[in-house]
Amino acid sequence: MATLEIENLQAAVAEEDGEQILEGVNLEVKSNEIHALMGPNGSGKSTLAKVIAGHPAYEVNGGSIALHLDDQDVADIDEDLEEDDLHWELLELEPNERAALGIFLGFQYPKEIEGVTVTNFLRQALNAKADEREELFEDEEDDEEQEADAEDEAGYDSSPMEGPSDDGEIGVAEFQQRLQEQMQLLDIDGEYAQRYLNAGFSGGEKKQNEVLQAAVLEPAVAVLDEIDSGLDIDRLQDVSEGINALRDEQGTGVLQITHYQRILEYVEPDYVHVMIDGEIAKSGGAELANRLEDDGYDWVREEVYGTA
Ligand code: ADP
Ligand code: MG
Repeated sequence: MATLEIENLQAAVAEEDGEQILEGVNLEVKSNEIHALMGPNGSGKSTLAKVIAGHPAYEVNGGSIALHLDDQDVADIDEDLEEDDLHWELLELEPNERAALGIFLGFQYPKEIEGVTVTNFLRQALNAKADEREELFEDEEDDEEQEADAEDEAGYDSSPMEGPSDDGEIGVAEFQQRLQEQMQLLDIDGEYAQRYLNAGFSGGEKKQNEVLQAAVLEPAVAVLDEIDSGLDIDRLQDVSEGINALRDEQGTGVLQITHYQRILEYVEPDYVHVMIDGEIAKSGGAELANRLEDDGYDWVREEVYGTA
């Protein structure tokens, strides 16, 4: 069980006199929960997603983003862990370290990478995550031991046949099996794994690939920014099933950013939040999304700020 706890988060565009965008965001997302974050264009939703992931375009000038883990979340770590290893301030960490701890950001406009297959990309991403995790949780005593080992090893040559060590890396065959399982779960055609990442993918395939990536990386919390934009109804249903599976099969906590209520018919949120002018102006259950669909956002503005 992981909890992402955002408190009074404030962020501005990282340039001189950069515009203040987030004005004190409070939000808590736990494992197994689906949160929908809605709000008019320009209210700061994508900025929040990027700040959680550690995007350098923004400067955080107040508040905190804590990630609390439990023993189960670190069951893969082969170290003596202490209480400290379960509580992290993400603002002190690099984007790749945040990802290694279990934060996943699905992009609104995924990149195309010619020459790298979906399989290779995902296997590399998974191995990079595992390596980064080991580094994050490695304790200082171990560092000293490793230095001592390195000195010992320097004494004799290792065989040229040995090849690079790949401690803890997932092998090709094991990975392929895992990928096939995830693809079946998401109802993705098998040949897709050998295509180049996003190259010539339709908008829908790109989004499905983002969900597949999340399924493979098994994040604690997945932040999905407008994953529903530009999808036809069939693809929207596939992507939605994938998001539900993340929660149901892996216990992932989902922060689903969306401008439209439509996807929420397929991915039923436990909580709905409305962001206006860089703040969460109102939170509620699924019924809040229905009211927004019928009445738009002005009534929230009126209720909260007394102006439309
Ligand atoms: P949303 O996703 O809710 O539509 P955004 O977070 O993308 O909103 O943007 C919020 C506001 O911040 C907008 O006015 C946008 O123009 C501005 N903004 C966001 N990122 C930047 C940036 N990198 N540079 C300048 N302005 C930005
Ligand atoms: Mg946006």
